[in-house]
Amino acid sequence: MNIQELDKKFVLGTYARADVEFVSGKNARLVDANGKHYIDFAAGIAVVSVGHANERLSNAICEQAKKMIHMSNLYYIAPQAKAAQKLVEASGYDMKCFFGNSGAEANEGAIKIARKYGEKDGEAKRYKIITLDHSFHGRTITTVKATGQASMHNYFGPFPDGFVYAKDIDEIESLIDAHTVAVMIELVQGEGGVQPLEKEKVQALAKILKEKDILLMIDEVQTGVYRTGKFLASNLYEIEPDVVTLAKGVGGGVPVGVVMTGKKDIFNAGDHGSTFGGNNLCTAAICEVMDILNEYDGSGELEIGMIMFDKALEKFYNANTNLFTQKVGVGMIAGLRVKDADTLVNIIIKARQEGVIVLRAGKNTLRFLPPLTITKEEIDEGFKALNRAVAAL
Ligand SMILES: *Cc1c(COP(=O)(O)O)cnc(C)c1O
Repeated sequence: MNIQELDKKFVLGTYARADVEFVSGKNARLVDANGKHYIDFAAGIAVVSVGHANERLSNAICEQAKKMIHMSNLYYIAPQAKAAQKLVEASGYDMKCFFGNSGAEANEGAIKIARKYGEKDGEAKRYKIITLDHSFHGRTITTVKATGQASMHNYFGPFPDGFVYAKDIDEIESLIDAHTVAVMIELVQGEGGVQPLEKEKVQALAKILKEKDILLMIDEVQTGVYRTGKFLASNLYEIEPDVVTLAKGVGGGVPVGVVMTGKKDIFNAGDHGSTFGGNNLCTAAICEVMDILNEYDGSGELEIGMIMFDKALEKFYNANTNLFTQKVGVGMIAGLRVKDADTLVNIIIKARQEGVIVLRAGKNTLRFLPPLTITKEEIDEGFKALNRAVAAL
């Protein structure tokens, strides 16, 4: 059996897979099983933050694997403590970390923090968490319910109670009641269609929530780790959230999730945990990713890369206003609104045929999440392929 037959026979059909298998890569370059080359404007889905086969990251992983891949959280884990320090220091917030294995699990941690925070002796428990329509917070039973997309709430009920959906940021305040304990939002909605919130509105909301002692929880699973140009989108928006969640880019491809909070004493031993979370291998990867990206940011290369990418995207957009209606996004979480859903699907397929990988977000957005370390040559080659793709439509 070839790989496609094997996959169809033995793997549950949860993904509508494209007809391609990538076997290797280097930074923003990919090679498929037939030896065809591509430029990667997707980076997994914002996961491969430091590029494919990054030498420093793969060396750090190999070195750690030769010493110890895993020991239990019953004991001290040096790379975990160091990774936590690097994340907290980069954030600029006075926080502590908990390590899990995915974005959904990081958000589960955030929800548990909120639910425990709402538990006050002698008072009615506060438990409601407000999220936004078109949000995406994960695929576990709880995070799928936290996700403000009714189409994802089929089949799997009964769900945990207490999630309230605001149609937009303006509606949040009016939904607050005596049981509200937290608001959980993405600052740039990723899966929902590359939808940045307005900075002034987020700052105003943060102020209201602080006054009401309601936690502001920012899901930075997609926006975090320099994707918007700052370490956190929260830094860019100049807010001080109570909880921040990370995953995707923070391990550079090693599966990790992190929940960070300023409520540093919220959990006691036994309140939360994970067998794999924060293990030696995964947190050694976080440490190296953080070192690489801190240096890349500090040297000014990150900003240069983001400006180059944005210029190239702008040029591509302006040359194709027959297909695209708007350019959206921040830094290297960017998108183009496509005039209709069929055209969007066709662009993605044609782009792949021409040798560039791009993503969809929501119903009508062509999404770009390149490796943060993408080079000028890779950007130019990628847009050349995209131009060929739209010319062939
Ligand atoms: C991808 C994503 C998640 C889910 O992360 P998983 O690692 O797939 O569980 C949650 N929130 C946001 C904003 C995401 O983009």
